[in-house]
Amino acid sequence: MPRFPDSQVVWDPSVLDYRFSQHHPMDPVRLKLTLELARSVGVLDGVELTVPGRLDPLELARAHTDDYQAAVRVAGSGRARIDLTGYGLGNDDNPVFLHMHEAAASIVGSTLSGARAIASGTTTRAVNIAGGMHHAMRSHASGFCIYNDAAIAISWLLDNGFDRIAYVDIDAHHGDGVQAAFWNDPRVMTVSLHEDPQHLWPNTGYPTELGGPEARGTAINVPVPAFCPDGLWLRAFHAVVPSVLREFRPQLIVSQCGCDSHASDPLTDLSLTVDGQRAAILAMRDLADELCDGRWLAVGGGGYQLVSVVPRAWTHLLAAVIGTDVDPATPIPDSWKDLVAELPADRLGGVPGPVPETMGEGGDVAFTPWEPASHDATSPPADAAADRFIARARSAVFPLHGLDPEDPRD
Ligand SMILES: [Zn+2]
Repeated sequence: MPRFPDSQVVWDPSVLDYRFSQHHPMDPVRLKLTLELARSVGVLDGVELTVPGRLDPLELARAHTDDYQAAVRVAGSGRARIDLTGYGLGNDDNPVFLHMHEAAASIVGSTLSGARAIASGTTTRAVNIAGGMHHAMRSHASGFCIYNDAAIAISWLLDNGFDRIAYVDIDAHHGDGVQAAFWNDPRVMTVSLHEDPQHLWPNTGYPTELGGPEARGTAINVPVPAFCPDGLWLRAFHAVVPSVLREFRPQLIVSQCGCDSHASDPLTDLSLTVDGQRAAILAMRDLADELCDGRWLAVGGGGYQLVSVVPRAWTHLLAAVIGTDVDPATPIPDSWKDLVAELPADRLGGVPGPVPETMGEGGDVAFTPWEPASHDATSPPADAAADRFIARARSAVFPLHGLDPEDPRD
């Protein structure tokens, strides 16, 4: 595939300072390993990484209260002890670390830089693999997320020429922070595909969460059962996402591409392969091409298999944005394996996992499109369970968009 001429990879090295502790699962080494893998397979050949300018601190107010920002600054300064009760900081998920304000702000600055480049017409697609801090709430940190970069970028876009933005979140966890930020805003459609909230934190993201009174139908939730494999997960994605997006007609798609949906992820229970994740990334790019003249802002998210999953999944993401798609059968270069071998394993957070041999793992990404009759007594139990989830998601939201939840063509 010829390289897409109009793309931007945003990279601020200071995002590597976003590290809660030595053994915290969200270890920024995953970002470094991703860039190195992308380099070693040629995805970044001829690509100049875009270093964002300094973030105007006023932009943080788009998604966060002043007192929460102050708490993050003071706690991360190491100079003062303050009462962090209510700010979601200083606990096991979000321990305080030195310069956490600066590190979290650099993630925001990177995503915002991509948004600005798209709004100005400088580029059509942009990606920040360090972004996707989708759990951060207005006045507190949550789930490893301090500042909500996607919510801030979307808010900025709304003030700069855009009034229909779709946010599509394929992380294994519900995109609760972004949903909350635009709960009652009809200009933003948030769609989250995630593991059954009965089983997985943050235990929200039911199909009945549909948005506030001014924006009913613009919060869309597609839970899937635990252990859902590639084919059923892709069936769920395609049973809901394209239809609602086509109806909404967004001018731009923001994709949160958390890869903790992988079967080996230590924090979740889905059963995807890197190939399934790659297929969804490409599907979101196709939707941006179809509906938004290609405008696509992509960010990372969760992902805690630091060696075997994240670098591959997000190399495919970088490749998708740059337009240099990588065949999953491509061998992993020895130079990258050598780099992994040099890592001090006892200092890695999360789980390194085995060193992969190829860019994919033979996942079967073929899927049978959803249809109402497919959840009958003859279906395998896993298919029937997934189809019940899909049917509930469609029944909850399709009528609000004039779509027929029983019509498989919708
Ligand atoms: Zn996650």
